[in-house]
Amino acid sequence: MASFDVIIIGGGPGGYVCAIRCAQLGLKTAVVEGRDTLGGTCLNVGCIPSKALLHATHSLHEAEHNFAKMGLKGKSPSVDWDQMKAYKQDVVDGNTKGIEFLFKKNKVTWLKGWGSIPAPGQVKVGDEVHDAKNIVIATGSEAASLPGVDVDEKTVVTSTGALVLNKVPKSLVVIGAGVIGLEMGSVYARLGAEVTVVEYLDAITPGMDAEVAKSFQKILTKQGLKFILGAAVQGVATKNGKAKVTYKLRKDDSEAVLDADCVLVATGRKPFVDGLGLEALGVEMEKRGQVKTHHFATNIKGLYAIGDAIVGPMLAHKAEDEGMALAEILAGKAGHVNYDVIPGVVYTTPEVASVGKTEEQLKEAGRAYKVGKFSFMGNARAKAIFQAEGFVKILADKETDRILGAHIIGPMAGDLIHEVCVAMEFGASAQDLALTCHAHPTYSEAVREAALACGDGAIHA
Ligand SMILES: Cc1cc2nc3c(=O)[nH]c(=O)nc-3n(C[C@H](O)[C@H](O)[C@H](O)COP(=O)(O)OP(=O)(O)OC[C@H]3O[C@@H](n4cnc5c(N)ncnc54)[C@H](O)[C@@H]3O)c2cc1C
Repeated sequence: MASFDVIIIGGGPGGYVCAIRCAQLGLKTAVVEGRDTLGGTCLNVGCIPSKALLHATHSLHEAEHNFAKMGLKGKSPSVDWDQMKAYKQDVVDGNTKGIEFLFKKNKVTWLKGWGSIPAPGQVKVGDEVHDAKNIVIATGSEAASLPGVDVDEKTVVTSTGALVLNKVPKSLVVIGAGVIGLEMGSVYARLGAEVTVVEYLDAITPGMDAEVAKSFQKILTKQGLKFILGAAVQGVATKNGKAKVTYKLRKDDSEAVLDADCVLVATGRKPFVDGLGLEALGVEMEKRGQVKTHHFATNIKGLYAIGDAIVGPMLAHKAEDEGMALAEILAGKAGHVNYDVIPGVVYTTPEVASVGKTEEQLKEAGRAYKVGKFSFMGNARAKAIFQAEGFVKILADKETDRILGAHIIGPMAGDLIHEVCVAMEFGASAQDLALTCHAHPTYSEAVREAALACGDGAIHA
């Protein structure tokens, strides 16, 4: 049995970042992690492996569709799926080992095993009970289930199974047109699968600025993905490694069936707090299963929670920011997360990124706003890499010109969004962005042009 200032349960982006910052601030810190490797969902079965597969399959797309145009002739590469999965696993291993290295460097103790909280101030791992002045729940989330759909992680899979399929399916049905479904759908479409996305709502990527979502759907359709929107999946039947997906169209209740080699259930994720003993402790929970917190504190003294296990966008960087803010608070400093400036990114090609308010949210709030839009058609760099589809859209207050939101669909959107994030953190106006010199030729010139379009007009439009 050992004593710590802080014990964090869960070694994902929320937990490991919190631990490193706690240790840097002089707190004796341990992390309990039940997996064989650190990094949580994100590094092991989430952000990182999916991005590796997106990179590999995007490279394939480039070879098949764009190399010849640039004078790079010859046979397109053939796909060695096992090697692609091995590459992906190497990327994962390198990153998870990196966290282990950072723990050693910062003197964070890894308590290996599954943890529970038998009493306030105590964490049990295996047979050992450790004392902690502060305990942080950072246990993350798991894939949500869907009534009538049994996941076997072979024919009917969650995102975890979708990362390690035995072979590339000829046909894939994705249930849910959210970020994870579209990213994995893109991967398999580029590998040659016929991909059909079935979505309950009438638009893809719920919550995204509607104009961007519409444009995104058009581009993905051109890439070969099929969409069935406004459709409620009734059930999935499997036989001999094949699946039949039954859905009902909401507009007229008509039923139809899709045949598929594989079905990816991507209908969202739910908080994971199983086995912690929260009920016995009397920890207050939200209706949707998250731990209830106020500035990360639960209703039990010395017990905190962060990341996917609490309310808010289920994103790695949101979890990381909360981890860092909580560490500062535990060390007696001021920790803060600005939930108004958390970017969201879809890592398809083109990428889609957003921060702040959508047009729909501004309309609903009755806020007077203006729109500055710039198409990547006017951006020389984007044209050079055959990615001139898409646009940057900046929303600014009509009176003050303060930036309220930005939405980008186009090359490197996931990186471009951050100049707007920084601008928003400083309370910048669109004119502040517009008057900032941007190097030429860069994709970020499109962001500047959209900012110019909030004022007297873009130059290259
Ligand atoms: C396919 C996929 C792609 C994604 N892509 C992105 C992306 O590109 N960008 C992005 O921002 N987000 C992405 N996400 C979401 C992101 O992975 C999560 O938001 C993030 O991992 C949440 O971090 P966390 O620390 O709260 O929890 P997690 O990363 O889930 O980590 C929690 C850890 O706690 C451990 N644990 C749980 N209970 C216990 C216990 N009792 N004892 C010990 N250990 C325990 C678990 O084993 C796990 O390792 C993706 C998710 C998926 C599934």
